[in-house]
Amino acid sequence: LKKSSRYLEILTKEFSRLPGIGPKSASRLAFHILKKPLTEVENFAQALLEVKQNITTCKICNGISDEDICLICQDDNRNKSLICVVEEAKDILTINSTGEFQGVFHVLGGVISPLDGIGPEDLNINSLINRINNNQIEEIILALNPNIEGDATSLYLGKILGPLEVKITRIAHGLPVGTDLEFADSATIIKSLEGRQEI
Ligand SMILES: [Zn+2]
Repeated sequence: LKKSSRYLEILTKEFSRLPGIGPKSASRLAFHILKKPLTEVENFAQALLEVKQNITTCKICNGISDEDICLICQDDNRNKSLICVVEEAKDILTINSTGEFQGVFHVLGGVISPLDGIGPEDLNINSLINRINNNQIEEIILALNPNIEGDATSLYLGKILGPLEVKITRIAHGLPVGTDLEFADSATIIKSLEGRQEI
């Protein structure tokens, strides 16, 4: 044991499992929790549990939601004929935070990646096709990350959705290659949305 307390050791280990948290940061966070008032720690623990216990997947877009249908899909002010296709639910947050996009989303749940054994059948593609067939959809914007898998998945979707009565566009390559959407700044995302091209 490096710590004088097993409890502290366990908490540090849990923190170190979080993305971007190294051993030093984990230790600092654990000591920080130790110094906090009990009620604050209880609120924090409660929030952690509630996020897992209460959040579900939107039946329409597969984004995260507190109910069957998420707040975005429920919002009558949004343009339901414009669907932005993203890899993960967190990408919705990234694009939404720009305040520019007024359409709705569709979460694929990943990208085609043969090396990881992920094929088209593992992604939410059928539900996307159903949405296009059963609703008045004008445009599908593919906003996948600019890397090999994202490009391959965009090509595949272009081919699969091509025969459907819908315009398909891809966000422009304003995003540096290899940069995930979530690390791009608002201005870059807005520019790449505005510069989207039909495929
Ligand atoms: Zn939704």
